[in-house]
Amino acid sequence: MKALQEKIHEVGRVLSADVLKVDSFLNHQIDPQLMKEVGEEFANRYANEVITKVLTIESSGIAPATFLGLTIGAPVVFARKKQSLTLTDNVYTSEVYSFTKQESNKISVSRDFLTADDNVIIIDDFLANGEAVKGLVDIVNQSGAHLVGVGIVIEKGFQQGGKLLRDQGLRIESLARIKSLENGKVEFFEDGEF
Ligand code: 5GP
Repeated sequence: MKALQEKIHEVGRVLSADVLKVDSFLNHQIDPQLMKEVGEEFANRYANEVITKVLTIESSGIAPATFLGLTIGAPVVFARKKQSLTLTDNVYTSEVYSFTKQESNKISVSRDFLTADDNVIIIDDFLANGEAVKGLVDIVNQSGAHLVGVGIVIEKGFQQGGKLLRDQGLRIESLARIKSLENGKVEFFEDGEF
């Protein structure tokens, strides 16, 4: 997605050879116009599918997931990372190891908001080693819902997650695919290039 790649070139900061900071439009401050276009692009790519629920994980997946939900008219559910007092036994849970925080989090989703009747798309901000998506897939499987596919705003193609999940037969649509962050520079895969 051209507008997204341009924004990354313009304001993304390469923190190391494997971490990109995009705090100014996705991870702290949010650019609503760009997120609206991101939501519409996910909707276009999955236009041939019936989706009844958008599933993401707090906090940075919520903005892109919400704009997709708005575009296709489906509710958005976000997995919670902290155990909430109001979220007790009636939950699906999974374990997710965080790439950026280097710690494990238990994630949970209420059984009220995901059922075997749902057709689900998973959305997240970044795809690195695939841990977050794997945890969400686990939750979809527990619910008995049908998983339509995954939408990622920024995939770091030089890390293992994308290959791992695609090898399992999952459909993954990434709007920007990064080939390298070496030497402080962001290099993207061209369309169709792997
Ligand atoms: P994974 O679970 O695929 O290993 O990592 C994805 C998660 O880690 C995303 O939800 C995202 O929050 C975070 N993450 C991974 N790599 C980056 C990165 O380069 N920059 C930022 N801002 N977040 C990242």
